[in-house]
Amino acid sequence: MKGNQINPRFIQMLTGRKKEDVKENPSIVDLKSDHTKVIVENRESLRPESLNSFKLKCGHCNQNGIYEVGKVAINVMDKKKPTHEDFQLNGYFRCKHCNAAGDWELPTDLMMLGITAMITPEKMADRCFVGKNAMFDGSSHRFATDGEEHLLDLLEQNPKDAFLWNRLGNLFQTCGRPELAAASFEKSISYQPDQLESQYSLGFLFEDVGEFEKAADHYEKVLIAAESYKEFDAPKLRDMLASTLNLLFCIHLKTDETIPFLSEYVRDRISEVVQFKFTRVLDWNPVLDPADYTTFYPLAEAFMGEQSKQIPKSEQVNLPSSGSGKKKKRKKRRKR
Ligand SMILES: [Zn+2]
Repeated sequence: MKGNQINPRFIQMLTGRKKEDVKENPSIVDLKSDHTKVIVENRESLRPESLNSFKLKCGHCNQNGIYEVGKVAINVMDKKKPTHEDFQLNGYFRCKHCNAAGDWELPTDLMMLGITAMITPEKMADRCFVGKNAMFDGSSHRFATDGEEHLLDLLEQNPKDAFLWNRLGNLFQTCGRPELAAASFEKSISYQPDQLESQYSLGFLFEDVGEFEKAADHYEKVLIAAESYKEFDAPKLRDMLASTLNLLFCIHLKTDETIPFLSEYVRDRISEVVQFKFTRVLDWNPVLDPADYTTFYPLAEAFMGEQSKQIPKSEQVNLPSSGSGKKKKRKKRRKR
């Protein structure tokens, strides 16, 4: 079988199988992921749209192939001309013939793309930029497959680290491999169901293939997990929740309200603190506008629970104090 372009080591880590039990060129079935299955069945094409396709030669088997290399970063400091080592290719690809990765001979036209981007960066901005790709831990890699190996090294030390599985999922997602991303995020939440970023990304992947019920289910889990999630600072957490609420609201609208916005499932699972704030926001009934995600801030802050207090005071949503609005109205009426 040709061209699955899946790392056998990824399969090993994902499924806990021994090296000798995994094929050198594994297929999607070997991922044993229900989430991947849904993505694969519903997506017209698993390959990213062509942005930068080049003919590359594999240093392992010496065979040529056309590969989508993704966005190109030229990691040069003060040099005038980039060398092969300065090229970082953001797309995830492995040799179609031998499934090896990271040992590529770069063609002249790709080198020329880099030089053009250095001379006229504005013309090339979509395809190539001067700078470098860095991962969450500051490490920087020439190929997405190198970044993957780095994360698999880290996972070998901590195989049940939901955060690392999330980072691996992010790598696959940004490098144009949603089916591998789905399997990684699924693994991440199997170890830590309240890994909010993995729940969000799964929601996003399912929404992308029109699986709205599944998407809403994962977005709701983001809301439930928010109160205890500590990986973000408070303003970033609020933005993420506002975006999640906005996406859920849009799913509610585009499914003719068959998928509820903030279902009983969510309401039954939030803490008393969140419940109290949530009820106050609902009583206040702010206008929600999908074109302006900040209109979801009051609800987002409610789901943050006590964490919302860490947002600078001047930026926090001011809810009308409970009951005061009604009293004022009554007073006015009496005067009349
Ligand atoms: Zn090869």
